[in-house]
Amino acid sequence: MISFWERESLLHTDVAIIGGGIVGLSAAASLAESNPNFNITIFERSILPYGASTRNAGFACFGSLTEVLSDIEIMGESAARELVFQRWIGLQITRQRLGDAAIGFEPNEGFELIREKELPALEQIDSVNALVSDFLPEYLSIADSRFAEFGLRQNASDHLVRMADEAQVNTGKLMHALEKYVLSLGVQIRTGAFVKQFTETDQKVLIEVEDQTRGNITFSANQLVVCSNAFTNQLLPKTDLYPGRGQVFITKPIDGLNFKGNLHIDEGFYYLRNVGNRLLFGGARNFDFEKENTTDFALNDQIQSHLEDYLHDLLPDISFEVDQRWAGIMAFGKTKQPIVERISAHTIVAVKMGGMGIALAGNIGEIVKEILEE
Ligand SMILES: Cc1cc2nc3c(=O)[nH]c(=O)nc-3n(C[C@H](O)[C@H](O)[C@H](O)COP(=O)(O)OP(=O)(O)OC[C@H]3O[C@@H](n4cnc5c(N)ncnc54)[C@H](O)[C@@H]3O)c2cc1C
Repeated sequence: MISFWERESLLHTDVAIIGGGIVGLSAAASLAESNPNFNITIFERSILPYGASTRNAGFACFGSLTEVLSDIEIMGESAARELVFQRWIGLQITRQRLGDAAIGFEPNEGFELIREKELPALEQIDSVNALVSDFLPEYLSIADSRFAEFGLRQNASDHLVRMADEAQVNTGKLMHALEKYVLSLGVQIRTGAFVKQFTETDQKVLIEVEDQTRGNITFSANQLVVCSNAFTNQLLPKTDLYPGRGQVFITKPIDGLNFKGNLHIDEGFYYLRNVGNRLLFGGARNFDFEKENTTDFALNDQIQSHLEDYLHDLLPDISFEVDQRWAGIMAFGKTKQPIVERISAHTIVAVKMGGMGIALAGNIGEIVKEILEE
């Protein structure tokens, strides 16, 4: 039962956002910065965000050589360049908004391990550099000397390509700082608020929220922004995306660890970074695509043990012990372009961030704001 006071002051909001991940929070930040008088309410189904934003690897990255080449093949040069730019500008927005210290920003570089089957990609370094030179000057270069420095196994045909401006963030700190920031702008975050469905009337959107204690409550909003990423099909079944589980582990601290930075392997299907003197390693969705196209957060033991073997092979002289393992859920589609669009008079969708939502999110928030203010 709703009280008079609740009905009068707490059930209606100017803008409702479904999903308290990095995109929902970034959209709230952009909207609140530009419209200080708006009431903005985020509905997040879990006490902590429960998707990808607090469970990722923390690469602040724009695209490795083979990823950009694959994007060029699928989407053409101009769209591929635009995507790299969106990631780059998105990261600048988040850094300026929150400050580097608050997000644990570390300008360690990114590297891609190029193996025999990828060797032809090396011939395209100059053309990719030319494509992004106006915002990422001298982006890619060969960096084979790092194999020995990092203790990485180098097979006869292996090379390392360096991505100059790639960096790392501390995912937990970033999300904490972003939450604090939007709260400071007056945004409300309702957690434990699972949106079951929403319907539009001529004037507004009605949002049915499931609450563990009280049952269902219907909120209303003038505008709704759906930022539920991989879980969007539960609300909007026709959205062109599918879920992908990402699994990682982090090791216990390793004495004398020399590996520093981000390493992309096999078109980004494997990813390794240091977190201080620990290693965080993850990926291998391509090891079992069918099982990994899921919104289930359970770990796949086969993939976890494959990841361990893979890391032993990659860094043969480093002994490590796994400390913690977890999974998160991403959203993918035929191309890597996010879906950011108005789908009806009162509803905007901002989903499908793939494996690059950290860098993208700042700019996605700005695009949502522009669409909403149009
Ligand atoms: C293991 C792993 C490693 C990754 N590594 C990186 C990386 O290094 N760099 C990078 O840039 N990206 C990485 N990513 C991807 C990145 O984390 C995502 O692109 C990004 O977090 C997407 O943000 P989001 O806000 O769109 O989605 P999410 O973080 O998934 O947020 C969606 C939110 O919506 C909520 N929600 C869903 N449905 C409802 C509902 N019906 N009602 C209320 N709330 C709802 C969910 O609980 C969730 O909190 C990784 C992801 C994973 C899983």
